[in-house]
Amino acid sequence: MIAENIRILQDRIARATERAGRNRDEVTLIAVSKTVGVPEVRLAMQAGLRTFGENFAQELRDKAAEITEDVAWHFIGHLQTNKVKYVADAATFIHSVDSLKLAAEIDKEAGKRQKVIKILLEIKTSDEESKHGVQNEGDAFTLADFCMKAQHLELCGLMTMAPFVDDTTIVRNSFRSLRLLKEKMTASGYPVHHLSMGMTGDFELAIEEGATMIRVGTAIFGERIYI
Ligand SMILES: *Cc1c(COP(=O)(O)O)cnc(C)c1O
Repeated sequence: MIAENIRILQDRIARATERAGRNRDEVTLIAVSKTVGVPEVRLAMQAGLRTFGENFAQELRDKAAEITEDVAWHFIGHLQTNKVKYVADAATFIHSVDSLKLAAEIDKEAGKRQKVIKILLEIKTSDEESKHGVQNEGDAFTLADFCMKAQHLELCGLMTMAPFVDDTTIVRNSFRSLRLLKEKMTASGYPVHHLSMGMTGDFELAIEEGATMIRVGTAIFGERIYI
């Protein structure tokens, strides 16, 4: 099942990149393994995936402790400052940095471990109430400045979640506004080369709008069961 799902997904990614006139290797597939067990993660590894995304701090810590092979763990969920300590060991990337307080805590915990954690700033690109993320451009620049100066953070890009609506114009506009912000920040000298956007329902649009990382769970592991 999982191997077949991955095969179909890889094919869709290949076709979407081709349609967009982009190279397949410009887009990293992050397999979102939240709520999924270690055996299923191992099946995805057997099918060639090496990059996994987790939403819950302790779940990432526990899974990374069990899976000692060379995989890259990305933390993609909302992160409370008191839980940074759980993700700082395993995470190579944290996609959800949306406040100075959180960035400072990640810098501190990374420092204790003498490592550098790669950072994406989460930007709010829609009006949906439930979404986290930096609300305005000025705050994004302020946060980027902080990350650039922090010794144990490496600013790498921007992340967003599109609103959950059927109207593809709204979804596309959300991705496009993230790309425009990236272009603006890049022009000002910030190294925000990555765009983390697109999930099971909208990754093809995201690839068309310039995503370099897509975060896909359901299309790989099936519908999640929350207990
Ligand atoms: C769960 C989640 C995903 C993956 O969603 P699917 O629809 O299952 O592909 C991507 N990004 C974030 C931040 C998530 O929480």
